[in-house]
Amino acid sequence: MQIIHSAKDMHSLSKLLRVSDKSIGFVPTMGALHEGHLSLVRRSKEENEITVVSIFVNPAQFGPNEDFEKYPRHREKDLAMLSSVEVDTVFMPEREEMCGKDETTSVDIGALGNILCGVARPGHFNGVATIVAKLFNIVSPDNAYFGQKDFQQCVIIKKMVTDLKCGVNVIMCPTVREADGLAMSSRNVYLTEPERKASAALYKALCHGREFILSKRPSAPSAVQDEIEKILKSEPLLNPEYIEMLKPENLEPTGKIELPVVICLAARIGKARLIDNILVKEEPSLPDDCAL
Ligand code: AMP
Repeated sequence: MQIIHSAKDMHSLSKLLRVSDKSIGFVPTMGALHEGHLSLVRRSKEENEITVVSIFVNPAQFGPNEDFEKYPRHREKDLAMLSSVEVDTVFMPEREEMCGKDETTSVDIGALGNILCGVARPGHFNGVATIVAKLFNIVSPDNAYFGQKDFQQCVIIKKMVTDLKCGVNVIMCPTVREADGLAMSSRNVYLTEPERKASAALYKALCHGREFILSKRPSAPSAVQDEIEKILKSEPLLNPEYIEMLKPENLEPTGKIELPVVICLAARIGKARLIDNILVKEEPSLPDDCAL
């Protein structure tokens, strides 16, 4: 497994791979890796000749009062995990190179960045898109793999790739969960034992919302929101932030529920803010990215 730190070296390698006609799969991460990240790596390895994983804690996507300094960093453990799944190249750029002091160009993804998580995290998605655009330019992947757990992020990256003609195929992969349904996340380490237990209610609530839609066929999103809220509120530690029903392909609100629909939610618990989502479609056996 090759570890590369500079954009110049990564650029040279991707040029070389292009010349030898090797397909490149790319998995951008912020490290503190878990099975969710590894599922993206495995998918990339299945579908590409070379897999590149980046580890970069992106300061541009953290707000002034967020956890940039405290974000978990486990370099050696991450590298051991990536080596165990036989990643070809790990790109670990320096902050100075990715966010140079003199750089003034950025990506503004527009209205999609101001809804859902963008309300509580202004500027977050422009920060994500700007760094992902730079990573795409450096790595030149054919395919890039993102988790459904961050559904809004995935839709935004797809939009950016379309608008900026990046020529990268963005693939959304299913959310990997703990045994009780909680979506794996590097930030789950912030949860205390009682908070960790209470957090299972998020997925329970989403599954109930999906069952409610499929069995009762309500037309008003508020009927489903009420059902979901009831479950979330049964856990006093959880403070729901939003529960939204949206069109999966562009995150536009559904006035009247028509399938497919994605239910997205966020809740605060202790020091953590958790997000999760579920797709509701007529054919639940179809892969989730069929809706996009
Ligand atoms: P992060 O390191 O949190 O920025 O995540 C890097 C990538 O891994 C993103 O595309 C995430 O959506 C994805 N990811 C994070 N958690 C999970 C999970 N539980 N299941 C699948 N993908 C995930």
